[in-house]
Amino acid sequence: MIYYKTAEEIERIRDSSLLVARTLGEVAKHIEPGVTSLQLDKIAEEFIRDHGGVPAFKGYGGFPNSLCMSPNEQVVHGIPNNVPYVSGDLISVDCGVLKDGFYGDSAYTFAVGEVTEEIKQLMKVTKESLYRGIGVALPGKRLHDISYEIQTYCEKHGYSVVRELVGHGIGRNLHESPEVPNFGKRGSGLKLQEGLVIAIEPMINMGTRNVVHGKDGWTIRTADGKPSAHFEHTIAIQKDKAEILSSFEYVEEVLKERNALIV
Ligand code: MG
Ligand code: MG
Repeated sequence: MIYYKTAEEIERIRDSSLLVARTLGEVAKHIEPGVTSLQLDKIAEEFIRDHGGVPAFKGYGGFPNSLCMSPNEQVVHGIPNNVPYVSGDLISVDCGVLKDGFYGDSAYTFAVGEVTEEIKQLMKVTKESLYRGIGVALPGKRLHDISYEIQTYCEKHGYSVVRELVGHGIGRNLHESPEVPNFGKRGSGLKLQEGLVIAIEPMINMGTRNVVHGKDGWTIRTADGKPSAHFEHTIAIQKDKAEILSSFEYVEEVLKERNALIV
C-alpha cells in the first residue's frame, strides 16, 4: 500500500530531512584521517537529539548505531567501529531521523584526505546519477524511468548497479512502498503522482555488481572488494516537479570551507 502525502505531511518530512542534512554537515566538519566512525556516530546522535529528533537507524531491526558508515568496499549498512580512517578512504555515511512522527533519510559519500582519480570519478558519477534520476521523477512518468536513468548513466561510465538494495517510499515509516530500484525498464512501474515521497539512493560499484553479506548480519560488501559509492535524497513528487526535501548544501558548505573534495 502506498501512502500519498498531504502538503502538511511533506513539510514534516522536509523538517526531518533537513535535520538529516544538517547532521551530515556535522559529520563533514569532523571526517578526516585519524577519526573513527564511532566518534562520528556519537557526534551525529548528539546533534540529532539536541535538535528534537531521534536517530532512525538506532535499534531499527537491531542496528546498533545512529549512522551507517560504510568504508571503501562496503556498500551500505556498515556498523561504526574503532578503526581510524586513513587518507584515501571512501566513506558512505547514511543517516535517518524521526521527528514529529515523520522520517527523513539521506546519504553522502565522503573522501578522506586524498583519494585516487578513479575513486573521485566513481563518486562523481554516482552523485550525478542521483540527480539524473530525480530529474525524471515527474508526475506522469513511471517509477522505473528513475531506475532506468540511474542504471544507464552509471553503466555508460563502466560501473555496475547493486541489485539487492533499493530506494523506498518514506513518511510515517522509514521504509514504505514502493521500492525504488536503481535498475529497470523505462516506461514501467508505478505511475508517479503528486504526494509520492521516496528516497532515491544509487549504490554504485566500481567492479562487479555482486555483493556479499557480512557475518555481523548488516554489512554489505562488494564481492570483488572494489569500492562502492552511495548518495541519497528524500524527494517529493509535486504537481509539476520533483522537490528535494533533504539537502547536500550543509555538507558542501563545510567541505568547501575545509578545502575538501566536492565531486
Ligand atoms: Mg539512507
Ligand atoms: Mg534509504
